[in-house]
Amino acid sequence: MSDGIWVIVEVTDQKPKKVSLEALSLARRIANQLGEPAAAVVLGSGLGEIAAELGMYGADRVYLADDERLASYTTPAHTRVAADLVRSRGPRLVLAGYTVLGRDLMPRLAARLGTGLFTDCTGLELDGREPVFTRPVYAGKAFSRGAATGSPALATIRPNVFGVQAPDAGRTPEVETVTVELGPDDLTQVIREVVRQVSARPELTEADVIVSGGRGMKGPENFPLLEALADALGGAVGASRAAVDAGWIEQRFQVGQTGKTVSPVLYIAAGISGAIQHLAGMGSSKCIVAVNKDPEANIFKVADYGIVGDLFAVVPELTIAVRELKAQG
Ligand code: FAD
Repeated sequence: MSDGIWVIVEVTDQKPKKVSLEALSLARRIANQLGEPAAAVVLGSGLGEIAAELGMYGADRVYLADDERLASYTTPAHTRVAADLVRSRGPRLVLAGYTVLGRDLMPRLAARLGTGLFTDCTGLELDGREPVFTRPVYAGKAFSRGAATGSPALATIRPNVFGVQAPDAGRTPEVETVTVELGPDDLTQVIREVVRQVSARPELTEADVIVSGGRGMKGPENFPLLEALADALGGAVGASRAAVDAGWIEQRFQVGQTGKTVSPVLYIAAGISGAIQHLAGMGSSKCIVAVNKDPEANIFKVADYGIVGDLFAVVPELTIAVRELKAQG
């Protein structure tokens, strides 16, 4: 029997990332169907408490590699530890979030293990006992479905698609400490300093609500309009590439093919035309609201609600309306 379904859990600020919990909840469902265990893999330093909490989200077992040399993510060290662990235990499937870390680690891990990787998955089900992966292709215009020929299968999942199961405080996982063996070849990168961006707003890929602006914003001085609406909704601010290329907002806020892939509950696009490369990054949002003065704008083809109008009038009105609704409780 295989060692079941594994999730490589990402931890930031002493908390597991939401997408890791989504992956763990998914792993639990698949493991139940297969009658196999679900396990979390935690690589880092001083993460014992977090490891113990992962049972609540479905882990039967947690493999904890706790070592100072893993305190900050580096590709070679994390790949080595993860690859050794996979080789020694033999899981059927290894999942991670489609995040900056997942996009870096998982291809390297797949190469090291000589197996295949499905990236940015939006669906995962079983065909008999075989995992079948669904992922968007052609910038979201079509979906491909595939199964792995190698073992284990590796996959990264799109954040905010699979959902997190209600935590079960009564579940305690078996935590197994993993021996970390690292040689000079695995320690070729040393992180000297980590500079954090401090923001009261949620991280773009994890936000339930995103308010994005494009070229229609006309300049950086108008982005506070979007920030006010985002703050009223407890959301994050995003942008099209045109706004980023114009230097109005930093690249880390870019949504799309060459930016972040997001899947919030609510995506508000203001002054964004809806180019295919933008849709590739937000097309799987649950509800899309578009504000555009051009009734023919492509964004209206994917929008659930469209407002044809001048964003400089519409966005402040939306902000006022949201604040009023909130004040009414
Ligand atoms: P525009 O297409 O210029 O649209 C501006 C919109 O604002 C128009 O629809 C206009 O009607 C509306 N508008 C103007 N004034 C107002 C107003 N006052 N009120 C309301 N509406 C108004 N783009 C991305 O976004 N993300 C990516 O990751 C990305 N990657 C790319 C990768 C490649 C390889 C290539 C070739 C392109 C990529 N692009 C990406 C660029 C993409 O093709 C578009 O150029 C870009 O998305 C356009 O941005 P926009 O919608 O803000 O601007």
